[in-house]
Amino acid sequence: MKIAKTIKSARNLVETARGKGKKIGFVPTMGALHIAHISLIKAAVKKTDFVVVSIFVNPTQFGPGEDFEKYPRPLDADMAICRKVGVDVVFVPTPRQMYGPKNLTWVNIEELTGPLCGRFRPGHFRGVATVCAKLFNIVAPDFAFFGQKDAQQAIVIKRMVADLNMPLKVVVCPTIREPDGLAISSRNRYLTDHQRKQAALIYKSLQKCKQMLDAGLTDTKAITAQMQKILNRPSIKIEYISIVDAETLQPLDRIAGKILAAVAVRIGSARLIDNILLDVSSK
Ligand code: AMP
Repeated sequence: MKIAKTIKSARNLVETARGKGKKIGFVPTMGALHIAHISLIKAAVKKTDFVVVSIFVNPTQFGPGEDFEKYPRPLDADMAICRKVGVDVVFVPTPRQMYGPKNLTWVNIEELTGPLCGRFRPGHFRGVATVCAKLFNIVAPDFAFFGQKDAQQAIVIKRMVADLNMPLKVVVCPTIREPDGLAISSRNRYLTDHQRKQAALIYKSLQKCKQMLDAGLTDTKAITAQMQKILNRPSIKIEYISIVDAETLQPLDRIAGKILAAVAVRIGSARLIDNILLDVSSK
């Protein structure tokens, strides 16, 4: 496994592999790797011949007062994981390399970045899209792997790739969960034991949503009210409980077709998100 600390060395390593006819797989991450990241890397190892993982805590996707400074950065442990699961190159750029002394070019995706997390994290998706565009231009992958846990992110990146005619395919991998349903996240480590127990209610609320849809309910308000009941705890601050069209992310009064049920909460200092995708028409 090679460690590329500069854009130039990352490019050279990928170019050499491509010259040998290898298909390039790319997994962008912010590090603090856990089993969900590993599942993305394994998907990349399975589907492609040469796997690049980037580890970059991207400053431009954090808002003021968010956890950029305290975001975990266990680089040695991350390298050991990458080595073990068959990564070919770990790309670890600095903010200065990625953004230079002054960055004037940004990628804004309209409409899809307004609802859900966009309402609570202004500028977040601009940062995510811009860094992914930069990383795609550096790594030039054939396939890039993202997690369904960050559903809006995956939709935004897919749209950017389509709209800007980027020559790669976005692969979205399933959400990996703890045994009690909590989606794995680097931010789960911010939770106390009590908060960690409460956090399992996020997935419970999504399961309740699924049950109600399975039972034939279609009224969004009634369903989200039941979900809210589950999450109504002193330690949980709900940001949103939304049921939206899975492609446009626009709200639905009556539920039909492919839908995304998505939840964002704050528990202590952690902001946690989760979602489920459902196809109501096929019921
Ligand atoms: P991050 O390091 O948090 O930026 O995440 C890197 C990638 O891992 C993103 O594509 C995330 O969607 C994905 N990811 C993070 N947590 C999960 C999870 N629990 N299940 C599936 N994918 C995940």
